[in-house]
Amino acid sequence: MTGQDGAYLARLLLEKGYEVHGLKRRSSSFNTGRIEDIYQDPHEPDPRLILHYGDMTDATNLIRIVQESRPHEIYNLAAQSHVQVSFETPEYTANADAIGPLRLLEAIRILGLEEETRFYQASTSELYGLVQEAPQSETTPFYPRSPYGVAKLYGYWITVNYREAYGMHASNGILFNHESPLRGETFVTRKITRAAAAIALGRQDKLYLGNLDAQRDWGHAREYAEGMWRMLQRDEPDDYVLATGVTTSVRDFTRWAFEDAGIALVFTGEGVDEKGVCAKTGRELVEVDPRYFRPAEVELLIGDASKARDRLGWEPRLGVRELAREMVAADLEIMRDDTIA
Ligand code: GDP
Repeated sequence: MTGQDGAYLARLLLEKGYEVHGLKRRSSSFNTGRIEDIYQDPHEPDPRLILHYGDMTDATNLIRIVQESRPHEIYNLAAQSHVQVSFETPEYTANADAIGPLRLLEAIRILGLEEETRFYQASTSELYGLVQEAPQSETTPFYPRSPYGVAKLYGYWITVNYREAYGMHASNGILFNHESPLRGETFVTRKITRAAAAIALGRQDKLYLGNLDAQRDWGHAREYAEGMWRMLQRDEPDDYVLATGVTTSVRDFTRWAFEDAGIALVFTGEGVDEKGVCAKTGRELVEVDPRYFRPAEVELLIGDASKARDRLGWEPRLGVRELAREMVAADLEIMRDDTIA
């Protein structure tokens, strides 16, 4: 519940009149910043957003929370979701991202809630990895390229398996990258928009990036949360791709973000020597740092969401160009506010 998607989904569900139960991991520092505006004082009568301490690696805790809340819908958005981090912590990633969904599905079964509780699994375009065709749809074969992708492959299939074995209303959303001003700071879009804002305000000198050639299909997280909800409102469970159908390189996204921060950026050089240079001052603002290269890379993602359009009536409205603009504007505002404070 404390991540980007949990924040958007919780907001959407509250607007629709749901009572929302969310999990947050215990941490000695605050980790509820993204939901501060919707999280009421628990001492108020009748709160509609209830947070529980929980962890996807702790089965008994998950069973107890499901038993207490008896949800009609469970959205499993919990994961160690950073691809590069998954190379450093592959076992934890498998525990949270593969066995985590199994624990939730088993909780539903152990408590006899198969008829009552619908289940959404956050599957991902990282399943396509070394892509076998372009664009990628629900019928494209998977070929994951990271411990994250491999763990999510188990999550995908265990969801399909529980649907087929036990008749559960369990669905996979195969979501392509989705971003917003709430995106975690280590994902590439947010890393870029924050740096563009900081450099424009004279607070940072340089941005170091990895593979500038990688191409992603970037949509807006708010719209993708709406798609998740629609999947669970269908009579029949199924698996759906959510994507925009447009792909953009990291390099182009960087150029746009800097443009939105008021800096015209020109890329020169090649490979690890490629640099993003300010067209006006000649200052080198972007450099490549091989530390951000991944042991195995996903070079190109572009999704075909026609099934979601036809069956869910879901279509993305916001393009990647506007997405960059919104994220830079938000980061500029946050940093200006910080300066005033
Ligand atoms: P992912 O698609 O789930 O891995 O989302 P990310 O936002 O983490 O990465 C998107 C793409 O940007 C990947 O192909 C990365 O290799 C590439 N990339 C290039 N430089 C960076 C960087 O500095 N940080 C991150 N996170 N990704 C980068």
